[in-house]
Amino acid sequence: MTTMPNWLKQRAFLTPERTAVRDGERAKTFAELYEASASWARRLAAAGVREGDIVAVLMKNRIEMIEIVHALFLLGARALLQNVRLTPYELGWQLDDSGACLVIADDGLADRFGGDGRVVTIGALAALLEADVPLKETVELDETATIMYTSGTTGTPKGVLQTYGNHWWSAVGSALNLGLHEGDCWLAAVPLFHISGLSIAMRSVIYGMPMYIQPSFDPKEANGLIMGGQVTIMSVVAAMLQRMVAELGEARYPDTFRCMLLGGGPAPQPLLEACKEKGIPVYQTYGMTETSSQIVTLAPEYSLTKLGSAGKPLFPAELCIMQDGKQAAPYEAGEIVVKGPNVTKGYLHRPEATERALRDGWFYTGDIGYVDEEGFLYVLDRRSDLIISGGENVYPAEIEAVLLSHPDVEEAGVTGVEDETWGQVPYAFVKRKQGAAADEDELKQFCRQRLAKYKVPARIYFIDALPRNAAQKLLRRELKTLIPEAEKRASRL
Ligand code: ATP
Ligand code: MG
Repeated sequence: MTTMPNWLKQRAFLTPERTAVRDGERAKTFAELYEASASWARRLAAAGVREGDIVAVLMKNRIEMIEIVHALFLLGARALLQNVRLTPYELGWQLDDSGACLVIADDGLADRFGGDGRVVTIGALAALLEADVPLKETVELDETATIMYTSGTTGTPKGVLQTYGNHWWSAVGSALNLGLHEGDCWLAAVPLFHISGLSIAMRSVIYGMPMYIQPSFDPKEANGLIMGGQVTIMSVVAAMLQRMVAELGEARYPDTFRCMLLGGGPAPQPLLEACKEKGIPVYQTYGMTETSSQIVTLAPEYSLTKLGSAGKPLFPAELCIMQDGKQAAPYEAGEIVVKGPNVTKGYLHRPEATERALRDGWFYTGDIGYVDEEGFLYVLDRRSDLIISGGENVYPAEIEAVLLSHPDVEEAGVTGVEDETWGQVPYAFVKRKQGAAADEDELKQFCRQRLAKYKVPARIYFIDALPRNAAQKLLRRELKTLIPEAEKRASRL
């Protein structure tokens, strides 16, 4: 087992005066961050936290949340990071599933747990006296550091075990790809309870790099921070980037801004093209909770020639495409399978799911994609959402991307519906932009010009909002419930 010095303690020893984290109002050095974390750790010990415990954390993006995570590391406890958008039922389900012994919640979020006796608010924790306990000086790379539940896009969420080694190699792999520049500062506007946000906090302490926290995403402020040269790298999902590009107007980012790391889901082609036109340095990435953030990223020199690709594996990782138990040929679609020291050791209390996903050291992602002859990955869709129509594979994401490129369409979701002739046919659900009037015929015509006939949606419904989970991801499996009753009877579904 590999042992390392505790990251924050080591960082505070090596470069104590460097800025670790700032938000709009405050800044803390690594030395200050360590002192604050150590103090929380002693209070958490007073609240009963012991080595090996699972402790849930329900907090919004702020400096204290980073301190609490480090405090749990200093006690050897495991941080279960919970999404603040979850309902009380979902939060409670995660507590039961994980067996968490304590919950640390922002003062304003504690009521989400009803009267659960395990909840301690930040305010109450601050009022506790520090216990005189020894703090851990090391981390073991094989030990679980954090637990995050998957978004539950394809089924019931599963608790992903993320080890110190996973976080370490994720940070190292990212640095080997993006480099580390003097003056780098990473903007965290994505939630810290997701791996996209937490991985910024891990890189910050491992690299000795400041991070900037936005309590909640604000496109105008984010653009301002980039324009002012205060941040040099930012992590985004497509919807965030869309709003930033719209807000930016004709302005262009300065050269100090070197990386817009785009992940979390498919990247619409029109958005990538708009960014290319505006000179925004977009790095497409592919990753998931189970890979402790990116595992495949498009290196900068290919951002234009391989537009739409998620890139190649990070240096410590490997990738292959499996089809019918064999490695697929270039351009042949199959399941994306990955390997690397940033890949999870499994799911909490789910031996069968772990066995299904991890085979011979390879992790089966449940996503479909292909690689080109040079090994660049193109993500097509999730395996569970694949539509098979007349024997042809139809990827909902491809149809959604076409619909989204129509000027009247704000959001689009596609799912397969049973059909007597074809087995399944795609149905689309569209939210139009305000005041937009494109009707079903017009959108079908638009699709016909851009898609093979069997991919053109058999029906297009207009709805006010698409079903999304707490991670704002589209729940395609729920789209079918939106088909009007009359229609269901007519087609004898
Ligand atoms: P669940 O596993 O419970 O269904 P989830 O997979 O949505 O939830 P996450 O780990 O947050 O939970 O998301 C990872 C998934 O996001 C990937 O498996 C993939 O489907 C999608 N994704 C990530 N990056 C990309 C990308 N570049 N292109 C397309 N899809 C992506
Ligand atoms: Mg998943």
